[in-house]
Amino acid sequence: MSGTLYVIGTPIGNLEDITLRALRILGEVDLLLAEDTRKTGILLQRYELKVPMWSCHEFNEASRVEAVLAKLAEGQQIGLVSDAGMPLISDPGSRIVRAAREAGAEVTAIPGPTALTTALPLSGWGGEGFVFAGFAPNKSAGRKRLLEALKHEPRPVALYESTHRIRKFLKDAAEIFGERPILFARELTKKFETIQEGTAEELDAFLETHSVKGEFVVILGPWKEAKER
Ligand code: SAM
Repeated sequence: MSGTLYVIGTPIGNLEDITLRALRILGEVDLLLAEDTRKTGILLQRYELKVPMWSCHEFNEASRVEAVLAKLAEGQQIGLVSDAGMPLISDPGSRIVRAAREAGAEVTAIPGPTALTTALPLSGWGGEGFVFAGFAPNKSAGRKRLLEALKHEPRPVALYESTHRIRKFLKDAAEIFGERPILFARELTKKFETIQEGTAEELDAFLETHSVKGEFVVILGPWKEAKER
């Protein structure tokens, strides 16, 4: 396999958050696999780049594998992007990357932002590791099971949450976490970026009077007792 698969990081909101190398590679690849070609089109247009694109999302990724491997075998350079941040971080791309690796193609990353590593440093927690739990389960029972399992985790835990579920998440967290500090980072790098810290109950009360619109990273602060050990 003489082709290369580039896993390319793109902005999580502010279109200026893209590396010079990502822009160069985006302009050089023969084909770009994009989770949503319309959204990636906005980014390409902003930088006046023209690249042939194929959609590649969770529902058609498996069916793309064979054709992508054929192009890599021909020596083509292929980029992979998601709608925001790094592909495969709570985003599609796993099947393509696994198949390319197993076929012996070169797979390399063009690093860019991720919401979790943007939010974590803003909390001031961490420094000695953290846990990333992805999206919390949709249903309350599953969410509570996850929160119970994380209850005594001494490291900070980052989770992704949506507009629709953030308050439900905070209500369950209030039941299980009580006074454990939590921070949320909403709309990072965007106009309405909001960073708020408090107990789950305090954060829910904050959202009662403020907009819940947008994308959220939730950071569960380190377990209190762990600090005292
Ligand atoms: N691949 C992305 C990354 O590298 O962070 C994550 C994609 S995942 C489908 C989308 C979730 O990431 C959102 O629901 C939210 O939890 C989080 N997210 C993405 N962009 C964000 C932003 N600008 N501010 C806060 N959270 C964000």
